[in-house]
Amino acid sequence: MKVAVIGGGVVGLSATVALLRQGVDVRCYEAGEPMGERSAGDTRIFRLAHAYPDMVVLAGQSRALFAGWSERAGAALVDEVGTVVSGAEVGRWADAMAAAGAAHEMVEAGSPLLRLPARAFAGPALIDPSGGVIRVDRIRAFLVDAVGDRLRQVHVDAVEETGPGVRVRSGTDSDTFDAVVICAGAGTSALAAGVGIDTPSALEHHLRFSFPIRPEAPAPLQCWITEPAPGLLGTYQHVAGPGRWAVGGDIDAVLVTWGSGRQAAEQASLAAVTGYVAEHLPFVEPRPIGQVYCTHNPDLGDGLQFVRRGRVLATYGENLMKFAPLLGEMLARACVDGSTPANAGPGAERTSQNTAGNGSVE
Ligand SMILES: Cc1cc2nc3c(=O)[nH]c(=O)nc-3n(C[C@H](O)[C@H](O)[C@H](O)COP(=O)(O)OP(=O)(O)OC[C@H]3O[C@@H](n4cnc5c(N)ncnc54)[C@H](O)[C@@H]3O)c2cc1C
Repeated sequence: MKVAVIGGGVVGLSATVALLRQGVDVRCYEAGEPMGERSAGDTRIFRLAHAYPDMVVLAGQSRALFAGWSERAGAALVDEVGTVVSGAEVGRWADAMAAAGAAHEMVEAGSPLLRLPARAFAGPALIDPSGGVIRVDRIRAFLVDAVGDRLRQVHVDAVEETGPGVRVRSGTDSDTFDAVVICAGAGTSALAAGVGIDTPSALEHHLRFSFPIRPEAPAPLQCWITEPAPGLLGTYQHVAGPGRWAVGGDIDAVLVTWGSGRQAAEQASLAAVTGYVAEHLPFVEPRPIGQVYCTHNPDLGDGLQFVRRGRVLATYGENLMKFAPLLGEMLARACVDGSTPANAGPGAERTSQNTAGNGSVE
């Protein structure tokens, strides 16, 4: 069987590695640097904690697969410092953890079990002891090495169903495959539309900034997801390398719309996040020392989405880094047997688009 994976972000590389392990003849097309777009940067947050029990269960499966990857990579790919969730919805997250049978603890702000860069915040908080820092730098090295010469660094112009297979066109080249997976991040909707698959196309800008951690901060700091302050709808925060604290900020959507441009979004996000750090994080210096930018599909939330049309399978979602090894396995299996993985999380009901074609649909 010959399979094309379009996109060499963490999802595409993970799918390629899983296909290779199944003995499939696979090619991964990447327009730029592997893991250079939405998978850029050196760290992310891992958490079992989600607002939906099915997502908690899937995160647990992904964590087990990360352990296998860590063994193969010869280095820990998740630093298990724990993840803390606080904010208005935390009770719902705790219920989902309980329903999924996942270990967790609810504590009040000020609990000695918390190691955060803030002394005070609106409690209670959920501690997810299996959470921690995903080492994206190590994952990139591991996956690029495992994919080896199966990576083809070209931009794919189109994916087209033909009689004998699915044609992938790039420049003047084209090749035909038995199955194609589209996991091209911001490029997915344009490619998928070519074979009649509809995926979210709206984009907005998103920024994360890093700041020096003061020496008196508790250690090791836990990752933290919270709804902190006026002007910031939500943040996620974690150690992003020695002595660096990363704070990603969701701000008012009108300030990060696609049309207003990247520069305006950067300025508005930087002002909101730095102001928050200065006012609320006594263990962090409000002096930005780095940033990670990405495009983002608004309103997706945590969730895994899969859409198939004939021999082409497309996937999309938010916060996919923590699911990378699991997504790789799911996509590889679906390519080989022609099935469509079940959606999970808030969009689990969005399955009506899956349409039959060429006999390879579930
Ligand atoms: C700042 C930030 C913080 C985040 N925090 C977290 C977190 O804490 N936890 C978490 O789990 N996730 C987090 N995420 C989300 C997570 O990193 C992404 O969901 C994940 O990396 C997406 O991977 P991907 O492979 O789907 O997309 P990408 O990494 O964008 O990969 C898609 C690839 O497809 C390529 N491509 C596109 N079009 C074409 C084409 N036509 N031809 C060839 N190649 C093409 C692109 O060049 C790109 O490399 C965060 C993301 C960012 C940016």
